[in-house]
Amino acid sequence: MAEKLIIIGSGPAGWTAAIYAARANLQPVVYEGAISEQNRCRGTLPLGQLNLTTEVENFPGFPEGILGPELMMRSREQAARFGTRIVTEDVVEVDLKRRPFGVIDSAGQTAEAHALIIASGATANYLGLDSEHYFKNHGVSACAVCDGALPRFRNQPLVVVGGGDSAAEEGTYLAKFASTIHLVHRRDSLNRASPIMAQRILEHPKIKPVWNSVVEEVVGDHVTTPGGEKLPNMTGVRVKNVKTGDVSTIPAAGLFLAIGHTPNTKFLNGQLELDSQGFIALKEPPRMVTSVEGVFAAGDVADPIYKQAITAAGMGCKAALDAERWLAARQIH
Ligand code: NAP
Repeated sequence: MAEKLIIIGSGPAGWTAAIYAARANLQPVVYEGAISEQNRCRGTLPLGQLNLTTEVENFPGFPEGILGPELMMRSREQAARFGTRIVTEDVVEVDLKRRPFGVIDSAGQTAEAHALIIASGATANYLGLDSEHYFKNHGVSACAVCDGALPRFRNQPLVVVGGGDSAAEEGTYLAKFASTIHLVHRRDSLNRASPIMAQRILEHPKIKPVWNSVVEEVVGDHVTTPGGEKLPNMTGVRVKNVKTGDVSTIPAAGLFLAIGHTPNTKFLNGQLELDSQGFIALKEPPRMVTSVEGVFAAGDVADPIYKQAITAAGMGCKAALDAERWLAARQIH
């Protein structure tokens, strides 16, 4: 039998949608994502991007702050308490051309649902350099919280690239372990970061801004493991000053990218309309309605502007209310 509502994604948007839908007796099913090595490397494990952060200081109700993973675990628990069923798999394919909609997960199981909420979030971007790809997981990372505490980075100089809140947050976090953080940004100020976070990182004694600069290449050599395996070993980055054209090499054991995110929409296979930047287009703002009736979207996958935990949660709430009303109007609920 078809589910009334399937929710795809397990960040603040997904869990808030589930809490509202479960309390409205929609018996929602959340696909929270698979626990796999591939998802670990991509930063798309269950519980979304908050699971990759440290302290969250701006979520109302936690004056002393709360750890991102804890906030998500508690949200998951709250959704489960009201009867949400949780499937720990990725959704790899949807069929939005038939009713009820079809869903296929990473274990090959199929499901059907009368309504869908897409809350699949976004994934960290890389620069796209061949050398960056070569040294990935051997010095190059897009997740300071996942990898920053590894022994290879302890008391070593590191490079962080970006000029937004992610760069400020990752740089401040990495400064706990590193000897120096070279903060490489293609402009001459942290123009995208919130003032409080920009001030915190720029005043940090271990942070050295490298303004007007881009990473051209990751450089390194190889190390041989005790078992005789030859592994890539990053030793620095070559940066170019975009104003003067000067090229220099910064010795560093790690390169952490903090240059924004791309919405996770691949599994939709072009069946939902996206905007010019690749976010799911919301067709009737302020509703969470997409280009396919009965499919709603919430959180970073449909938010080119705000991208905050609290706005994602608000969108999840709205998507659940929209789905409930849509199902009720069709006597499915
Ligand atoms: P962002 O605000 O989009 O900033 C991305 C930064 O990366 C920009 O400075 C951009 O430079 C730079 N960049 C993009 N592509 C680049 C490239 N190919 N090479 C070099 N630099 C590149 O992204 P974000 O920092 O990930 O933040 C996303 C959202 O999450 C924001 O709304 C932010 O407020 C939120 N966030 C909040 C917190 C918090 O409150 N604790 C923490 C993290 C993130 P240009 O300026 O030149 O484009």
